[in-house]
Amino acid sequence: MKLDAVIIGGGPAGLSAALVLGRARKKAAVIDEGRPRNGVTREAHGFLTRDGISPSEFRRIAIEQIGAYPSVSFVADTAVAITGTDGDFQVETAKGQSFQCKKLLFAVGMKDRPLDIKGLKEVYGTSAFVCPYCDGWELRDKQLVIISKGPDAMHFAQLISGWTNRFTICTNGAAELSEPEREELRRHQVPVLESPIRSIDSEGGMVRQVVLEDGTIVPCGGIFFRPKLVAGSNLPQAAGCQVTEAGTVVIDELGKTNIPGVYSAGDAASMRHQAIAAAAMGTLSAAAMNNELNTEAWRERG
Ligand SMILES: Cc1cc2nc3c(=O)[nH]c(=O)nc-3n(C[C@H](O)[C@H](O)[C@H](O)COP(=O)(O)OP(=O)(O)OC[C@H]3O[C@@H](n4cnc5c(N)ncnc54)[C@H](O)[C@@H]3O)c2cc1C
Repeated sequence: MKLDAVIIGGGPAGLSAALVLGRARKKAAVIDEGRPRNGVTREAHGFLTRDGISPSEFRRIAIEQIGAYPSVSFVADTAVAITGTDGDFQVETAKGQSFQCKKLLFAVGMKDRPLDIKGLKEVYGTSAFVCPYCDGWELRDKQLVIISKGPDAMHFAQLISGWTNRFTICTNGAAELSEPEREELRRHQVPVLESPIRSIDSEGGMVRQVVLEDGTIVPCGGIFFRPKLVAGSNLPQAAGCQVTEAGTVVIDELGKTNIPGVYSAGDAASMRHQAIAAAAMGTLSAAAMNNELNTEAWRERG
């Protein structure tokens, strides 16, 4: 059976797209290997009506609600190869399944590169975070450490100052800051420590202190850092989609890639990494896909 659409990735972007396509009576499959980026967190924040929900509960509710639309199916597998063109794509999976479809949506997210600071993995998602909009409230007024080297550190400092004015920047090696930037941080009484980080000490996922190679100990109750990211899957690129230097798929305002019939949504196609933004992109892409499908079917009928 040829499906109207295959959605690769079942995070907020892919699931929102599935909801729209299900309600539009389209036959769609969501192929998801189940490794969302926020899998390390206990609570996701800032998604209206779902503030503080666990990522697994979010997914459970989404799948339950999409279950009301019988033309959508879920496949727990990894998509590994794509062939074909608009109107007739084939998707192969790691478990040897094969799906034929008219349109494709890459909602494959982004992945963290391995964390290269000793002790960071133990606190990631519990007391070390990447986005103040997601977790700043929980760390408000605490003594924090920002791990960042260059101009990013300035951006982080200004942003974090909305949640706490007690923070230290650890550059984990020589800072890449200009003299005016250093002067600005001095004016705001933000310490900048350049010694490499030896380890992050924690208990039960809660950071206690950051220990530097020069022996300095920085007590703190939370960390923000900028992780190194890679594309959640190399399939979009393998399928011929244009990608940016940062690894995100290039799309237009409707989520269309440069390949006819192929769309992308969510973190995979954006630097705005928030669940509600990813979900919104999934919704818009699905509406555009549905519009294309309806127009094509209408024309075929005469
Ligand atoms: C530590 C942390 C905390 C966060 N906290 C928040 C928060 O509080 N609030 C908030 O709004 N945002 C938060 N975010 C950001 C949020 O998680 C992302 O913006 C959101 O998950 C993006 O959704 P997505 O659907 O694009 O991708 P994802 O949620 O990453 O989902 C992509 C899915 O695609 C699957 N996949 C990839 N390749 C394949 C393939 N080839 N075949 C099958 N499946 C595949 C993956 O396994 C995954 O399940 C946080 C992120 C991190 C890292």
